Amino acid sequence: MSVLDQKLKDAEHVAIIGHIRPDGDCTGACLGLLNYLQAVYPQIEAEVFLEEPSVKFAYLKGFDQIQTVFSQERPYDLCVCLDSSDQERLGEGRKILELAKDSLCVDHHITNTDFARTNVVKPDASSTSEVLYGLLEEDKVTKEVAECLYTGIIHDTGVFKYPCTSPETMTIAGKLMSTGIDFSRIIDGSFYQKTYVQNQILGRALLESVTFLEGKCIFSVVRLKDMKFYSVTSQDLDGIVEQLRLTKGVECAIFLYEIESQIFKVSLRSKYVLDVSKIASYFGGGGHVRAAGCTMSGSIYDVVNNLSEHIERQLKELEPKEDGEQKSAED
Ligand code: AMP
Ligand code: MN
Ligand code: MN
Repeated sequence: MSVLDQKLKDAEHVAIIGHIRPDGDCTGACLGLLNYLQAVYPQIEAEVFLEEPSVKFAYLKGFDQIQTVFSQERPYDLCVCLDSSDQERLGEGRKILELAKDSLCVDHHITNTDFARTNVVKPDASSTSEVLYGLLEEDKVTKEVAECLYTGIIHDTGVFKYPCTSPETMTIAGKLMSTGIDFSRIIDGSFYQKTYVQNQILGRALLESVTFLEGKCIFSVVRLKDMKFYSVTSQDLDGIVEQLRLTKGVECAIFLYEIESQIFKVSLRSKYVLDVSKIASYFGGGGHVRAAGCTMSGSIYDVVNNLSEHIERQLKELEPKEDGEQKSAED
């Protein structure tokens, strides 16, 4: 019996919550659990709360049941927090967690603060969807559950290419495939497809990007006025930082977008050596070794300068001593 089954034994009313600005892993894991509970524990009343879920995940069963207003008439017996490293990242969901009689956090962030009563945190797992799969009974995973978890896994692994992808990830993905999901459509439709304006803003961000630290770093920014001009939201900016990271010779990519005047959401990505979770944590954020984020205020110049100092310091520390020169995989 998994820790999830133990927690569900006496629960009648369960809330499932994720992090602010929910991504594919967060949305997939939340809906995966909702569908699993509805199929396996039909006596339990389960509800999902997420802030502004992206319509690109509307093909997932239960998407229309997501509640975006975090109201609650009574305390939940159990609050399951998915893909959130700390309470701050739960946003309004925090109220639900605080009032719940019991709580379970399932996550894969190295920076997780063990904030729930029970925490299942696996920093080596590709995604929360992968960790969650380990808590479910395999033969009860329906096609609908599989669609959700597969979506979560492809989003956090960049379709099985980031180093967080492990043989275990592939084994689980194989098992999910065997339920008959249309994986090609899921990958194209939710990961690669871009709307016309999404392509335009991506193009503009690439055009205006700047390299520094001898080409080892690249940065770009989208300001509020640009978002207004193209009529895009933050969700339309997905994938920009990844394209920046792919630039030849770049070890670290920084992408900023303006949330409010002089307040920026920062996305950091690294390729082979830099631990960006350390840098994001220093500025009050968190994440993973190769993908992390935080919020910073000041002018663009200040933000990039502050980040650059930390990047440069780490790169210096990582420099090979004397004769042991590292060979880049790009050479
Ligand atoms: P992003 O750049 O927003 O795609 O985030 C990259 C990774 O860092 C994701 O795994 C996020 O969950 C995590 N992350 C982003 N922003 C924060 C933050 N403010 N605090 C903690 N973790 C974050
Ligand atoms: Mn996430
Ligand atoms: Mn995740």
